[in-house]
Amino acid sequence: MEEKKLAKEKRDLLLLNRKNGYDLLKEGEEEIILSYSEGYKKFLDEGKTERSCAAYTIALAEAHGFRPLVRGEKLQPGDKRYRVNRGKGVTLAILGRKPLSEGARICAAHIDSPRLDLKQVPLYEERELAYLKTHYYGGVRKYQWVSIPLELHGVVVLKDGSSRTVVIGDQPGDPVFTVTDLLPHLAGEQNKKPLGEAIAAEQLNLLIGSRPYPNDEGSDRVKLAILNLLYEKYGMIEEDFLSAELMAVPAGRATDVGLDRSMLGAYGQDDRVCSYAALLALLNLETPEHTAVCMLADKEEVGSMGVTGMKSAAFDAFISDLCDTQGLRLKECYERSFCLSADVTAAFDPNYPEVFEKHNSAYLNYGICLSKYTGSRGKSGASDASAELVGLVRKLLNDHSIVWQTAELGKTDQGGGGTVAAYMADRNIDTLDAGVPVLSMHSPFEVVSKLDCYMTYRAIQEVYRS
Ligand code: MN
Ligand code: MN
Repeated sequence: MEEKKLAKEKRDLLLLNRKNGYDLLKEGEEEIILSYSEGYKKFLDEGKTERSCAAYTIALAEAHGFRPLVRGEKLQPGDKRYRVNRGKGVTLAILGRKPLSEGARICAAHIDSPRLDLKQVPLYEERELAYLKTHYYGGVRKYQWVSIPLELHGVVVLKDGSSRTVVIGDQPGDPVFTVTDLLPHLAGEQNKKPLGEAIAAEQLNLLIGSRPYPNDEGSDRVKLAILNLLYEKYGMIEEDFLSAELMAVPAGRATDVGLDRSMLGAYGQDDRVCSYAALLALLNLETPEHTAVCMLADKEEVGSMGVTGMKSAAFDAFISDLCDTQGLRLKECYERSFCLSADVTAAFDPNYPEVFEKHNSAYLNYGICLSKYTGSRGKSGASDASAELVGLVRKLLNDHSIVWQTAELGKTDQGGGGTVAAYMADRNIDTLDAGVPVLSMHSPFEVVSKLDCYMTYRAIQEVYRS
């Protein structure tokens, strides 16, 4: 008997023992998970583009006492400040008790998602139907974007320099738009093409109208009628498309998935799932030891470049402005900072086991997933966190009973990916990738586990507090 007990103890000690998060929850935690996901659903519905997500983020932050950072102002521990980057990204901070020379605790996520952007000259008419040409943004599997309802979001800057916000399709009763697909009866040839080639990028044209302009003898009467509607609603003319950023995103609201409602389905969870966790953890944070920073970036899906991407000096300017208030240099702060690069990873999909390596996959309901390194094909392009850094985070998560796992994105040489981690590490900031496992990533309807969302929130909360 005694020997059996000892053997079991040895087994528990020596073997890596992963458990389903539901077997590790504490009393009352399941209710908290459900209420957390209600707030998250609202965040998704309010922010289907980086602009609307940034606007909703600011509204939440202001309601929690955050104010725009004024360059040169004096700051105290506990002060809450933010800065918007051109309406598309937000950096928020709560000043810590310790000076910034002791480093900051940063959580970086992104609020842009794959979608169909309109081209600059989008509107045309063909056989008396009006369409908008699109250029897809980010890693889109084109066949997934046909024959589904789409909304139109964005801004148009008119000839006189004034700007109009466009949102069509997200309210009950609004019209929606769609990209048509072939009927099976005529899809014989299309069916023979590889999936990635069946729908061409130049076929992703948004159907926008069919009624001709009345009492007009000219050509393109349907296009003319659409322009007239846009003129009446937004005061815009065709040339105004040239100074517009309009995008089609999947219509519909975030919703529970499964009879047990354990999962959540929506467009744009990559990476608003981590963005919400990083934001809410900051909003709920009491004055921390180290200054806590939440960075919500744009342009991750296309390489983090540009003035609103994670490579932009906008982030450095914000932290540097904080350092200035304490008479410190930015590099002193960076070299002692820690960044959790919070982005989604691929969840093991039992429908497609062949692309995963089961020992190093992320599983739904197994908690926040740490990825020591990303990249592809021999860790190319990877940000590889040190053993010491992973060790620190591992201890932090264990000490606070947070459900977590580790994974790589798919089998070696199957593919791979990366996120903003590398650009944080480039700044001389110790950085570790972590985030929520997602099914159907980059599709119009991504699925996550509510438990994993909440564990990611808790993990980020403890990073801010550390
Ligand atoms: Mn992402
Ligand atoms: Mn992505």
